[in-house]
Amino acid sequence: MNNKWVYLFKEGSKEMKSLLGGKGANLAEMTNLDLPVPGGITITTKACNEFYKNNKKLSEEIVEQIYEHIKILEIETGKRFGDIENPLLVSVRSGAAISMPGMMDTILNLGINDKSVIGLANKTQNKRFAFDSYRRFIQMFGDVVLSIPKYKFDYVLDDIKENKNYQNDTELTKEDLEELIETYKKIFVKEAGIEFPQNPNEQLLMAIEAVFNSWNNTRAITYRNLYNIDHNIGTAVNIQSMVFGNMGATSGTGVAFTRNPSTGEKYLYGEFLINAQGEDVVAGIRTPLQIYKLESIMPDIYNQFIEIAGILEKHYKDMQDMEFTIEQGKLYMLQTRTGKRTAEAAIRIAVEMVNENLIDKQEAIMRIDPKSLDQLLHPTFDLDTQRKAKPIAKGLPASPGAATGKIYFTAGDAVKAAKSGEKVILVRKETSPEDIEGMTMAEGILTSRGGMTSHAAVVARGMGKCCVAGCDDIYVDEELKIFIVNNEKISEGSYISLDGSLGLIYNGVIKTVEPGISGNFNTLMKWADDFRRLSIRTNADTPKDAQAAINFGAEGIGLCRTEHMFFDESRIFSVRKMILSDNISDRENALEEILPMQKNDFKEIYKIMGIKPVTIRLLDPPLHEFLPHTDDEIKKLADSMNINLYLLKEKANSLHEFNPMLGHRGCRLLITYSEITKMQIRAIMEAAIEVCKEENIDITPEIMVPLIGNVKELKYLKDIIVETAEKVKNEKSSNIKYLIGTMIEVPRACVTSNEIAEIADFFSYGTNDLTQMTYGFSRDDAGKFIGDYKDFKILDSDPFQSIDTVGVGSLLKTSVKLGKQTNSKIKLGICGEHGGDPESIKFFNEALLDYVSCSPYRVPVARLSAAQAIIQER
Ligand code: ADP
Ligand code: MG
Ligand code: MG
Repeated sequence: MNNKWVYLFKEGSKEMKSLLGGKGANLAEMTNLDLPVPGGITITTKACNEFYKNNKKLSEEIVEQIYEHIKILEIETGKRFGDIENPLLVSVRSGAAISMPGMMDTILNLGINDKSVIGLANKTQNKRFAFDSYRRFIQMFGDVVLSIPKYKFDYVLDDIKENKNYQNDTELTKEDLEELIETYKKIFVKEAGIEFPQNPNEQLLMAIEAVFNSWNNTRAITYRNLYNIDHNIGTAVNIQSMVFGNMGATSGTGVAFTRNPSTGEKYLYGEFLINAQGEDVVAGIRTPLQIYKLESIMPDIYNQFIEIAGILEKHYKDMQDMEFTIEQGKLYMLQTRTGKRTAEAAIRIAVEMVNENLIDKQEAIMRIDPKSLDQLLHPTFDLDTQRKAKPIAKGLPASPGAATGKIYFTAGDAVKAAKSGEKVILVRKETSPEDIEGMTMAEGILTSRGGMTSHAAVVARGMGKCCVAGCDDIYVDEELKIFIVNNEKISEGSYISLDGSLGLIYNGVIKTVEPGISGNFNTLMKWADDFRRLSIRTNADTPKDAQAAINFGAEGIGLCRTEHMFFDESRIFSVRKMILSDNISDRENALEEILPMQKNDFKEIYKIMGIKPVTIRLLDPPLHEFLPHTDDEIKKLADSMNINLYLLKEKANSLHEFNPMLGHRGCRLLITYSEITKMQIRAIMEAAIEVCKEENIDITPEIMVPLIGNVKELKYLKDIIVETAEKVKNEKSSNIKYLIGTMIEVPRACVTSNEIAEIADFFSYGTNDLTQMTYGFSRDDAGKFIGDYKDFKILDSDPFQSIDTVGVGSLLKTSVKLGKQTNSKIKLGICGEHGGDPESIKFFNEALLDYVSCSPYRVPVARLSAAQAIIQER
C-alpha cells in the first residue's frame, strides 16, 4: 500500500495526534488500554489535505480504504453497514489535532433509512428508539451536510410538544416520531432541493466530505484565528459504530471531568441524562443530572466509570474531560481529552498533582499558561457591598469571576457596544459557536438554559470569562431584547452584575476590589521563583501601583515615569506656568513650586519600595502635551496667569511639532531646559536622602535619562546631574550613592552602546520606542495596518506586543554585546510593554538581560514566564 489513509482505533496511539487528530488518537489510546470503546476507524488529517488538493473530492484510493476498514467493523459487531435487518449504524466525528470544541459537527446514527429503521425496531423490539434515532439522523445530516438550519426542524418538534403538552423530548411517542420523520423528510427536500439520501454509502461519503469541508467553515476559521491555530493542519474523521443512550431507562449519556474544571477540586464532576443521545447533555435540551446521582440509579456503572476515570487520569497525568454512553446497562467510553479549565483550577490541579507525585514541579510550572493568570488578577466583588446587595436570580456557577456591564441579547449587539467602549454582558437563552465573538468581547455571560457543560460554560471557562449558566429564574426574550425576572422586565442596556463563582445575578453595579496572590497561586509562584534567573520589576508611577506590584511579587521599579505626576489637577497649573514662561527666572520660580510636590511623590514611592531598586526616568514627553487644548481651557489659563489670550495662543502654537514623537522630547528637552533636569534631580536626591534617614535604610537612587542616541547627550546631562546631586548631598551632609543610566530606545544608541556604556551604570531597553524607530511604524498609527499585515502573513504578530526578535531583537543583542565590552558590570533591563509578554520574556532571558519590568498586573505573568524560559532551555 502506498498511502495509508485509514487506521483502525487499535492501530493508533495518543502520540499520533497530528495524523489522527486529538479525538482519534485518544480513542485509539483508550482502545489499547482495554477500556470499553465502540469499534471505529480514523481517516487521517493527511486525507483531509489530500481532499483539498483533489478539488474537494475523496480519491478512489481513500474511498477504497474506508470500505475495507468498515468491513472489519462489521465483523467485530456482527452487524452490516447498509443491511436492512441488522444495520450497522455509525457516527461520523470530526477531530483536529488541536481540540476545537463545537467547531465542527458530528453526525450520529448514519446508515439508517426507511427500511432499516423497521429492521432496527424489530431487532431491538423498540420502535420508539428506532424512530427517535432516525429523526435525529435526518436533522443532523441536514444540518451538517446540507446546512439546513436546525431550527427549521426544531419548529416542528416544538409544535408537536406544545400541541400535546409535553415537557420533554422523551415524552414523544413512536407515532409522534413517525409523523416527525415524514415531516422532516419534506423539510429536507424543500430546503436542500434533493431527496433525503436512502443509500447508506451515499450518506457516508457525503458526511465525510462535509466534515472535511467544515474545516473551512467560518466558525472554524474564526476559532483558529482566535487561538492562532494553523489553518493547514486539517481535520481527521472518525467513523465509529454507534452505541445508543436513547434505548430507554437503562440507557443514557453524559460528560464528566476527573476534577472540577472551575475550581480544580478533586472529585468526579459532570452531568448525565437518562434515555438521551449525543449532544443532548451539552445542548441544554433537558436539564441534566449531576453525575453523583448516577450512583443510586446504576451503582455498578457508576463504580466502573469512577474506576475508568482514575485509570485515564493516571495514564494521562492530567485532568480528563470524558464522554460516555450507557446502552442497556453497559458503559461505553466515547471520548477523553485533557480538560479545559479556569486558571484557578489549572493552578490548583498542577499544585495538587505535584503533591500526589503525579507530576514534578517543572511540569506544574510548564502547564500554566502565563496569559491565563490574567483571570486571577482581575478584581472581585467587594464582599461587604455584595452581601448587602440582594441577588435577583441564581443560576449555575459556570465560570468564576466578577463582571458588571450593560446587557445585550445578541452577539452582534454585544460586539457593537463593546467596540464603542461599553462594558458588556451577553445574555442569551443558550450560546452556540456563532456567538464566539460576542462572548470574547463581553465581560461576562448569562444564559437561561444549559448545564455546567453547556457551550456557554465550556467556552467561558476556556476564555477565563465570568459566566452564569442555566439560570431558569429568568426568562430571556432575545427578540424583544429583554429578560424577565420576578415579574420585572430588564431591558437591553441596563446594568447587571454577575458572580460566576456563586452563580448569582444582581441588578446594577457592584463595587469591586483588587485581587492578591495566596494559596496555591502563591505556592506555584514561589516554585517559579526558584527556577527563574531574570529579576522582575514593575513600571509604576504612583504609590498605589507600586504597592499593587509588590503584592504581586515585584522586586523593584524598572520604570517610574515622572510626567504623570505633572498632570495632577493641583499641579498642572504650575507646570503650565513653567512651560509658558519666556525667561529662565520665571521658569525657575514655577519649578520651585513643583519641586516639593515631586519630591513628596518620590518619598512616598521610596517608603513603599524600601531598599528595593527604583529607577526614576527624567521628563520624557514633549511639553505641548501639558498645555490645554480647548479654547475654553486656554482662556481660563490666560485669565489665571494674567496674560494676554493672544500671546498665550502664540506661545502654545510655537510649541506645536509636526512629528512630536521625533521632536523636542526626552534628553533633548532635558538638555535645552536644564532647569527642569536640575529640579528633578533635586527632588529625587532630597527624597531619597530624607527617606533613608527617616526609615534608617540605604537607598541607591537610579536616575534614568530617556532617548539618548549619542553619548555626548548623556555626557552633557551627566555633568548636570552629578553637579546637582553632589550639591544636594553636601547640603544634607549625606554620602548616599546613586546610579546614572539611560534608556536605550533609539537605534543609534544600540549600535554605539560601547561608547554609552562607558559612562552609564545601567541600560534599560525602551522597546516601545525602539520598535517604533526600528520599523519606522508610528505607535499611534500602526493599528491601521497591523491587522492587515497579520492577515496577509507579512507579520506573525504585532511587534508592539511581542518583540520582533529578528530585527529589534538583533539591535538589542548588539547593544548588550557592545555595552558589556566597555562596562562588564553594566546592569541591563527592559521596560517596554514587552516586559509582560511571555514570548518576549523568553527572548530577554536568552539575551541575558538582568531584569524585565512590566505593569503591576503582569508581574505574576512575568515571574512564571521567566521560570518557563529557563525550564525550556534545559
Ligand atoms: P464534539 O467534538 O462536538 O464533542 P463528538 O464527536 O464528540 O463531538 O460527538 C458529539 C456527541 O455524540 C458526543 O456526545 C458523543 O459522545 C456522541 N457520540 C459520538 N460518537 C458516538 C457513538 N459512536 N455512539 C454514541 N454516541 C456518540
Ligand atoms: Mg465530544
Ligand atoms: Mg520611550
